[in-house]
Amino acid sequence: MLLDHLKRAAAEREAQSLTRRRRIAHTACAPHQSVGAVDATPTPLLTFCSNDYLGLADHASIAHALAEGAHRYGAGSGASHLVSGHSLAHAQLEQELARWLAPHIPQAQALYFCTGYMANLAVLTALGTAGATLFCEALNHASLIDGARLARADVQRYPHGDVQALDALLQASQGTLKLIVTDSVFSMDGDIAPLAALLALAERHDAWIVVDDAHGFGALGAHGRGVLEHLGLRAERLIYIGTLGKAAGVAGAFVAAHESIVEHLVNTARPYIYTTAAPPAVAHALLTSLEIIGGEEGRSRRAHLADLIAQLRTGLAGLAAQAGWTLGASDTAIQPLIVGDNAASLALSAALEAEGIRVGAIRPPTVPAGTARLRITLSASHTAADVARLLDAIARATPQVLREAA
Ligand SMILES: *Cc1c(COP(=O)(O)O)cnc(C)c1O
Repeated sequence: MLLDHLKRAAAEREAQSLTRRRRIAHTACAPHQSVGAVDATPTPLLTFCSNDYLGLADHASIAHALAEGAHRYGAGSGASHLVSGHSLAHAQLEQELARWLAPHIPQAQALYFCTGYMANLAVLTALGTAGATLFCEALNHASLIDGARLARADVQRYPHGDVQALDALLQASQGTLKLIVTDSVFSMDGDIAPLAALLALAERHDAWIVVDDAHGFGALGAHGRGVLEHLGLRAERLIYIGTLGKAAGVAGAFVAAHESIVEHLVNTARPYIYTTAAPPAVAHALLTSLEIIGGEEGRSRRAHLADLIAQLRTGLAGLAAQAGWTLGASDTAIQPLIVGDNAASLALSAALEAEGIRVGAIRPPTVPAGTARLRITLSASHTAADVARLLDAIARATPQVLREAA
C-alpha cells in the first residue's frame, strides 16, 4: 500500500517536471566543479548555483584552520553544549560574533548552532509560545515556515514586502508578544526586505523582529557583518540569525540578540539543547573565516562580487526582455531569471549544461507555481570571463527553449 502510494506520487512529480535529483560533486565547491556518478569520470562544469558568495568554501587558509582545529580538539564534540560538548573554539567564535553584531544590537550575545535550519526552529519555538503572535513574510525560507508551524504562537502571514498590510495586522493584534519574522535577502529572489520600515513598525507597535540573514552575512556591509551593517540599523528589538555555511564558507549558524534572549534560548530552545554540538574544529575554522571576511581580503572579494553582479544584470536585462522572461529586481549575488514554466526552465538549465555550465532550475514548491526560474548565483571566485561565458550560453539556448515551449 505505502509503496504503491509513493510510486504514484513519484509518477505525478515526474509528469509535472518536479522530480528532484542529487548530483555528486567529485571536487570542492568552486566555480569549476566536477560532477558525475560515483564510478564515472566526472564532468567539469562552470557552476552558478552555490551560496558560497565570497568563494571561501575551498579557501586554503580556512581548510588549514579546520585541520588545525581537528588536531587540537579531535573530530567530534562528544555531547550537546549543555552536557560537555561546548569547547573553547565554540566560545571564542560566539565572543567574536557578539562583537561583530554589538554595534547593531545593544548588549548582544551570540549563540552558535549546527545549522541555520535549527537556529530558526529554536528562535521561533522558544519565543513563539502560546499568547505570542508571529507575523511572517510570505516568501520566508522553509526553515522559518517550519519554525512557525512548530511554535505554539498564533501565526499570521503578510504579503511579500507589504509594509502597510503588516501595519494593519499589527494594529489589529491582541498578542502579548508580537514577532515580525522575515528573511533579509530573499533566497529565491535576491531582493532585500524593507528592514528600516519594519523596524519603524516594530517600534510603533512594540513588536520584535526576527531577521534571517542567511544570504547577507559575509556578503553585505562594509565589513561583511551583514544586512544590519548594510542598512545601518541598530535596535534592541532585533533578533538576528546569520548562517555560516554560505558566504562564510564553512557550516552552522548563529543567533545574535540581547543577552537575555540568548540566555533564554540556551535554557529553553529544544533544537539547541537536544543535539550534539558541532565539531569544535568547525568553530575553529570559522574564526579564520571571520578574519578573512572582516579584513582587506573580504572587502576586495565583496567589491569583485559587486562588479560581477553588475556585469550579469546588464547582460541579462536585454536577453530576458527579448525572451519574455523576467529578471528579478535584485542587487545581490542571487539573480533569478524567471522563466515561468517548469519544463521550460528545466530545458534552459539542460541546454546550459550541454555547454558545460551548471545553473539550477528552481521549481514549485520552492517558488510559487508559474514562477519556475533559473536561480543564478555569483561568487567572488567567478571571473568576468566566467560571467561572459554564461551570458553567451543563455543567448544561444534561448531560441530553442522558446521554440520547444511554443
Ligand atoms: C540556507 C538557509 C537557511 C538554513 O541554513 P542552513 O545553515 O543551511 O541550515 C535558513 N534561512 C535561509 C534564508 C536560508 O537560505
